Amino acid sequence: MIRNNLQKFKKERTLVLIKPDGVERGLVGEIINRFEKCGLKIVGLGIVRASKNQIDRHYPKTKNWIENLGNNFIRSCEENNLKFDLKKDLGVNNIFELGLMVRRWLIDFMCSGPIVKIALEGNHAVEVVRKIIGPTLPYKAPPGTIRGDFSIDSPIVANLEKRALKNLIHASGNIQEANFELKIWFTSKELLN
Ligand code: UDP
Ligand code: MG
Repeated sequence: MIRNNLQKFKKERTLVLIKPDGVERGLVGEIINRFEKCGLKIVGLGIVRASKNQIDRHYPKTKNWIENLGNNFIRSCEENNLKFDLKKDLGVNNIFELGLMVRRWLIDFMCSGPIVKIALEGNHAVEVVRKIIGPTLPYKAPPGTIRGDFSIDSPIVANLEKRALKNLIHASGNIQEANFELKIWFTSKELLN
């Protein structure tokens, strides 16, 4: 019983995707280096061109998650004193439709070039990876994190350019998300034991 629990904690797994901007900028080695150096083990690795369907399955479709993307859009405009009309300026009727629009930008971005998929294993892998990559918005991410060291992208610029935020990396947000996402990107044979 104790032994089983020990293995569960030591072998926690998470998914990382190096997004098309990270691959295009030649940051794959640097990014993998940071995960390896802290002690996480690579148990799956590959470079792929994702299909729209695969990205659509990867990102949540719940009302809550989609409205959250819409609310992020509105918040970044408010923070920058930018006034806009949902219907006239963006052609959407409500926050959910706004979130759907951002989600489509995100799918287009994730399919715009190759991505590197990495399965990582180790103590608290999910939390450790999120710590190493830093928070979502690169211009706010602290130095020492991947997003903070290699990007200054901002949501207001991305929104005005009608594109997703280029923040180099996707990483699972919790263990449940990690288990779900690992299955999208790796078959069980592709993951080492
Ligand atoms: N995103 C965006 N605009 C925003 C907020 C997020 O394009 O205003 C994109 C960004 O690429 C982000 C992804 O949507 O990584 C998923 O958002 P989430 O809140 O899950 O951030 P993450 O878990 O990637 O930090
Ligand atoms: Mg997330």
